[in-house]
Amino acid sequence: MKRAAWLLAGAVPAIWGAYTWGSHLLTVGSIWRGARDRRAVTLTFDDGPDPEWTPRVLDILEREEVRAAFFLIGRRAGRTPQVARRIAEAGHDLGNHTWSHTSLWRCGPRETEREIGQGHAAISDAAGRAPAFFRPPWGKTNLTMFRTLHRSATPCVFWTVQPESRRTVTPVEQARRGTERARSGAIYDLHDADGVPGAGSRLVEYLPALIQGLRREGYALVPLRDLL
Ligand SMILES: [Zn+2]
Repeated sequence: MKRAAWLLAGAVPAIWGAYTWGSHLLTVGSIWRGARDRRAVTLTFDDGPDPEWTPRVLDILEREEVRAAFFLIGRRAGRTPQVARRIAEAGHDLGNHTWSHTSLWRCGPRETEREIGQGHAAISDAAGRAPAFFRPPWGKTNLTMFRTLHRSATPCVFWTVQPESRRTVTPVEQARRGTERARSGAIYDLHDADGVPGAGSRLVEYLPALIQGLRREGYALVPLRDLL
């Protein structure tokens, strides 16, 4: 009996480790970067829609004539459907960023399916168009996530460049860092809502300079669907 308890005590963390950390081996089959044969990049925005910051980001993208991708949180899309719809109507790509932005390392199979399914449904309802891509919060995956996405043929999209720094830097410096790290096919991971506090307000300050910097370096800013 004692031995069985010891075995169990070892087996549970091992199985959980394979289910969560082990699943990261499968990210090699996910999308980290687009086609490299063309000087183009895609901007992606996570954690919205935010009632205050997302419309301002949309204004900037409209002014600069850029189409990007928005990975929305289902619960937030349900609370701000008019913003979700505006994103879709402007021709941006939609992605599912789960229902509640929980870490999939903490979700068992059933909860994982619920986070993905409910997120997908809420975004579809709010935006009037179904999300075509998925990105897990903080990039944390598990085995059920891969199985669920495989069943619905939904690509899992990570990122090539995360230019945002946790330390506050000036908008000029932030845009310079983002431009410096550009390469063909790069997927930029940006945040138009608070996950990281103050993310939205910082973004609207440096986004125009980032777009202009990338263009100066000869990069076209294309929708995600065109980059892949
Ligand atoms: Zn996120």
